[in-house]
Amino acid sequence: KGRLINLPSIAVIPGDGIGPEVVNEGLKIFNYFNNEYNLNFKFEEFNLGAKRYLKNGELIPESILKKLETFDAIYLGAVGDPQVPAGILEHGILLKLRFHFDQYVNLRPIKLLNNRFSPLKNKGVEEINFTVVRENTEGLYAGIGGFLKKGTADEVAIQEMVSTRKGVERIIRYAFEYANKTNGKVTLCDKSNVLTYSHNLWLRVFEEVKTEYPNIKTDHYYVDAITMKMVRNPELFDVIVTCNMFGDIITDLGAELQGGMGLAASANINPDTVSMFEPIHGSAPDIAGKGIANPIAAILAVSMMLEYFHRDDLSEKIENAIKIIIEENKLTPDMGGKLTTQEVGDEILKVLKRG
Ligand code: ATP
Ligand code: MG
Repeated sequence: KGRLINLPSIAVIPGDGIGPEVVNEGLKIFNYFNNEYNLNFKFEEFNLGAKRYLKNGELIPESILKKLETFDAIYLGAVGDPQVPAGILEHGILLKLRFHFDQYVNLRPIKLLNNRFSPLKNKGVEEINFTVVRENTEGLYAGIGGFLKKGTADEVAIQEMVSTRKGVERIIRYAFEYANKTNGKVTLCDKSNVLTYSHNLWLRVFEEVKTEYPNIKTDHYYVDAITMKMVRNPELFDVIVTCNMFGDIITDLGAELQGGMGLAASANINPDTVSMFEPIHGSAPDIAGKGIANPIAAILAVSMMLEYFHRDDLSEKIENAIKIIIEENKLTPDMGGKLTTQEVGDEILKVLKRG
């Protein structure tokens, strides 16, 4: 997993709204490790987002896209701005990068760092620690379909669910490789009892790939059943592999279980091209510029990046430091604290320096 790299280079896209504010804190932590452990990561910033678009209509100029191809990863804040019609920046930047680099894995760790922010806090749930591996390029989100007799009483709208053997196999294989690292279990989440073509392929490919990993345990849940289990027995799961739409839905459920958007990071991965790491929240224009954005999700995105580059040790240090500041309530207002974005970053840094 991950390319073997001597001098990893990270393209930083701070983006819009609170994006630059939280990315700044993420880079503060990254720079500390870079110096402390001689990591030799190189960073270069790219200004993409609302400002550029409003100035000259540019989303990602071809020259920047070409330049980004030479990096190992992208660290993204958020894009989105009330002055730009919804969807333009998301399609023109986020989805553009995702498709250009064929980032077929959406990786979403669901980890309970402190159960005080989880809706399950009074339910006796102690441990939530699993990762959703969501297929990111096809399925029901492939954009294929159309209307028949549009606008009439007999109108029919068709949205096709496209699953290719290559697409299904590579995501399932990624899930097994990921589980292999931690001796985890792989759970297939589908609806093969009803989606008898598309998810029948998933089921067959899962069975095939499984035989190559005889040491890895597996199980299988239909998506409706898994939502119940995620709430009732989240400790059952290690790695859940699922299609694009189901992944979309269960990762939001997971984000709430772990304590909300302020604590959720994700990665869009293609181990052979350029992968992108980001907090799941958006640009939050309502709080931009006030210095109160919660930087934890962006810092967890840095933790995911370090894990991707095989520094699980440093990734764990970040998580532990975050656990400590949550315990001490050194947090921004959205999590009930009184600190600013920068102060939270500083507190995490302080814990890291204490070692
Ligand atoms: P976008 O259009 O880019 O998705 P958004 O306004 O929808 O931006 P979201 O990230 O979806 O922003 O967040 C919804 C709301 O949650 C925000 O308006 C903000 O009040 C709050 N929020 C989101 N992220 C954070 C954060 N990191 N810290 C504090 N509050 C946040
Ligand atoms: Mg939003």
